[in-house]
Amino acid sequence: TKWVYSFGSGLNEGRADMRNLLGGKGANLAEMAANGLPVPPGFTITTEVCSAFYENGRKYPDALKAQVDAALQRIEQSMGLRFGDPEAPLLVSVRSGARVSMPGMMDTVLNLGLNDQTVEGLARSSGDARFAWDSYRRFIQMYGSVVMGVPHHHFEDVLEQFKRANSVEDDTAITAGQWRAIVVDYHHIITTHTGAEFPTNPQDQLWGAIGAVFGSWMNPRANTYRKLHEIPASWGTAVNVQSMVFGNMGDDCATGVCFTRDPSTGENIFYGEYLINAQGEDVVAGIRTPQPMACARAEAGQHPMETALPQAYGELLRVRSLLETHYKDMQDIEFTVQRNVLYILQTRNGKRTAAAALKIAIDMAREGLITQEEAIQRVPAASLDQLLHPTLDPKAERVQLTRGLPASPGAAAGAVVFTAEECEARAAKGEDVILVRIETSPEDVHGMHAARGVLTTRGGMTSHAAVVARGMGRVCVAGAGSIHVDYAAGSLNVGSHTVKEGEWITLDGGTGAVYLGRVPTIEPVLSDDFNTLMGWADAVRRLGVRANAETPEDARTARRFGAEGIGLARTEHMFFGPDRIGFVRQMIIADEESVRQKAIAALLPFQREDFASLFRIMAGLPVTVRLLDPPLHEFLPHAEAEMAEVAQALGKSVDDVRTRCAALAETNPMLGHRGCRLGLTSPEIYAMQVRALIQAAVMVEKELGKPIHPEIMIPLVATKAELATTRRAAEDEIARVLKEEGTNLNYSIGTMIELPRAALQADQIAEYADFFSFGTNDLTQTAFGLSRDDAGSFLPYYVDHGLLPRDPFVSIDRDGVGALVRLGVERGRQTAPDLKLGICGEHGGDPDSIAFFDEVGLDYVSCSPFRVPVARLAAAQAAL
Ligand code: PEP
Ligand code: MG
Repeated sequence: TKWVYSFGSGLNEGRADMRNLLGGKGANLAEMAANGLPVPPGFTITTEVCSAFYENGRKYPDALKAQVDAALQRIEQSMGLRFGDPEAPLLVSVRSGARVSMPGMMDTVLNLGLNDQTVEGLARSSGDARFAWDSYRRFIQMYGSVVMGVPHHHFEDVLEQFKRANSVEDDTAITAGQWRAIVVDYHHIITTHTGAEFPTNPQDQLWGAIGAVFGSWMNPRANTYRKLHEIPASWGTAVNVQSMVFGNMGDDCATGVCFTRDPSTGENIFYGEYLINAQGEDVVAGIRTPQPMACARAEAGQHPMETALPQAYGELLRVRSLLETHYKDMQDIEFTVQRNVLYILQTRNGKRTAAAALKIAIDMAREGLITQEEAIQRVPAASLDQLLHPTLDPKAERVQLTRGLPASPGAAAGAVVFTAEECEARAAKGEDVILVRIETSPEDVHGMHAARGVLTTRGGMTSHAAVVARGMGRVCVAGAGSIHVDYAAGSLNVGSHTVKEGEWITLDGGTGAVYLGRVPTIEPVLSDDFNTLMGWADAVRRLGVRANAETPEDARTARRFGAEGIGLARTEHMFFGPDRIGFVRQMIIADEESVRQKAIAALLPFQREDFASLFRIMAGLPVTVRLLDPPLHEFLPHAEAEMAEVAQALGKSVDDVRTRCAALAETNPMLGHRGCRLGLTSPEIYAMQVRALIQAAVMVEKELGKPIHPEIMIPLVATKAELATTRRAAEDEIARVLKEEGTNLNYSIGTMIELPRAALQADQIAEYADFFSFGTNDLTQTAFGLSRDDAGSFLPYYVDHGLLPRDPFVSIDRDGVGALVRLGVERGRQTAPDLKLGICGEHGGDPDSIAFFDEVGLDYVSCSPFRVPVARLAAAQAAL
C-alpha cells in the first residue's frame, strides 16, 4: 500500500480531488505544486494510515517507516539540506490535515529538527543567530505544548517575565543570547512538567509529532467538533510534513494569511493580514498586531505589505488570481516570505459569512467563473438565517464602551460571562450570553456555540475567535485591546469603567462597537444579491414553500420572505389572547349546554377576524387552517385569580372550577383527548371554527375581489372513520353558512398525517382527503414513541453516544419516520393521484429534510417564516 505522497520535490503524487486520502491541505499542496506555484517540498501521510493506526491498537502499518524515510530524502535532495545535519539542518513543519478543516486537533509544529547542536548549525548557515535561537525556542514551545502536553501559558509566563525584567516590548527585539537563556528555562519547564527530557534526536521529534497528530484525531475537543459538524470519526486525518521556509529571518521576511475576496462582505478586493519578521502562528495568536495587505485598506500608521515588500506582494497578487481561477472559489491562502521570496503554504476555500457567500456566489456567476446552478449550490441554505438576523436600531440610544474589530456580523446583546462552561450553563437556562475572552481556543468552541456573541481583547480578523464565530454565524468583535479582562475578579475594565459578570453588553459585529447594556435591534433589509439568488432558486425548485403562521405579523414576515401561502395556521395559538382566553375557559368548564354555547358564540367573531386578516395578508394565496388540536386542559386556569375569574363568569365556586380542572388533567395528554378526537366529542368547537373560517373567506373574497381558497385541516387522524365523520360535520356547517350568505366558495378539506397508523392507512384516508400535510413532529414522536416534551433530558445522550446520528426532531429520520412519509405518499396517491401533499412539521425548514421531501415527491414544505428563504434555497439545491 502507498501510505505516503510527495509534493514539490520534483515529484507531485497527489491532486486536489484526492482530498479524502490526503486531506484538504495535502491535496491542495500537491495541486498547487503541480501547477508550478512556489510550494516548499514535502509529503503527506494519508488518512488511511490514521484509520489503520486506530484499527490496529495504535500501531502504524509496517511499510510506513521506509516510505517516510524515502519521502524525507526527496525533500533533502530538493532543498540541498539534511535532516539533523549539525552544520546546516533541514527543518520541517508537521501539520494535521483532515478532509475538512477541523479545529480541536493538534494543528502545527514548526521548526522541527532543532536541538542544541543543530541550532548552532542553523545560526552559522543562515548567518543569523537571533533567527536560529528564536526558531528553536518556538519549536520547544510548540512541541512542548502540543506534543508533550505542557500547558502553553508556562512558556508565555517565562517569556513575559523575561520581557518585563529586561524592559523589552517586542519579541523581535530579543537578542540571540537572550533567547538562548530563555531556551534553558524552557527545557526546565519541560522536565518539571513531564518528568522527561525534551527529545534531541530529530527522528524521535518527527515521529513524536506524527503520533501527536494521529492521537489528536480522537481527543475530546476534536470529537466534540466532529459531532457538532457531523463529521464521521472514520474519515481520519492526514499528516503533512513540509520543508520549513522562514518568515522570521529579518525585515525582508514575513508571514501572513490572505483571502482572495473579503470574507466578511464578499467584496472582490484582496484582503488579509501579515507580519514582518514573524512565523506562522504569530498572525493568528494576536501577540503582535497584524498589518494590512493593500495600501487601499491601510489606515494612517499602518505598514501595508504592498509598500513594505513590493516584490513579494506583486507575486502574491499573481497567485491570488491564479488560485481563484483554478479553484473557482474564494481562497484562504497562507504564505511566507523568506528574504523577499514568496512561498505558499496552504490554500483552501475560505470560510466566509453568509453575506459574503451570497455576494461571492452571485459575483462569480456574473463574472462567468461559475454557472448559476453552481452559485445556487455555493450558498449553504442554513446560513441564510444569518442574513435575516437583526442589526442595531440606528435610532436607539447607546453608550459605547469601546471598539474592536468587526469580526462577524449581526448584533447581539447578552450577559457577560468569562468561561465557555458558564456560557453553556447560562444559555441552557435560556439566558442570552456574551462570551468574553482575552482570546479563544478550540476549548472554547462549545461556549461560543452557546453564546449570542463573542468578544475578545486580542487577535485579528483571522484569529481563532473571528474564524470560528463567522463559521457558526455568531456575532463577534475581536481584538478590543482597550478592554482588560480580569478572569479572577470576574470582570472587565475599560479605563475606569467596570463591567461585572452577568451585566449586559451589546456587540455590533458589523462595526466592532461594544455598548453598555442592551441596545434595541431592528430587522435586516434584504440585499439585491439576496433577491437575485432567491430568484434563481425559485426558477429551479420543484417544491412549493409555504409558512407556518397564525399571527398577522408572522404572516407578513412570511410573505416578505417569499412564502407561497400558509401551510399551517395553528388555531390554538389564537385562543390565548387576553380578550378570548376567558371565553375559552368558560367553554371548557361550563356544564350547562346553553352557557357553553354562549361562550363558543362569543369566540366566533374573534376567530372570524383572525382568519380574515390571514386571508387579507395572503391575498388569494392558499391558507391552510388547522382546527383545534391540543388537549383542552392546556387552556385551563392555573393561578387562583384566573380560577376566580372563571368561577365568577360561570356563577360557580372556585372549588367547583378547581375540581373540574383536575378532572380534565390527563396522564398522557399528547396521546389523549386532542386533535380530531376533540372535534368528534365536542363538535360545536370545530363547527364554530369552520363557520368563522367560511364567513371570513366570503367576506375577504368580496373585499379583495379575488377568490379565496381556504383549506381546512383536521389534525391527529388515525382512522378513515374519524376523518369521514369530521369531514361530514364540517361540510354540513359549510353548507349552512354558504346558504346563509347566499354564495359559493371553493374550499378543500384535508388531514394531517402525523400518526403511524394514518401513514399506513393513507390509501383509506385519502378517500376523504383533498390534501395531506405530514405532521412530522407528531409523526416522529409517535413513530419513535419518544415524547416531544421530555426527550430533551436523554436525547442528547443518544446523539453523543452515536445511538442516533442526529436529533430526529430537527432533521428527519429517513429510515423510520421518513419511510412512513414515503409510504403515506405512495398509498395516498394510489387512491387519489392528484392528492396534494405537504409537510408542516419543524423539518420543513431543515435543508437535509427538504432534500428528502423533494425526493419522495411532496408538493410543498411549510416552515416557520424566518426559514422560508432557507427552504426556497434548499429546495432549489435539492432539485439540481
Ligand atoms: C406536527 O405534528 O408536525 C405539527 C405540525 O403539528 P404540531 O407541531 O402543532 O403538533
Ligand atoms: Mg401535530
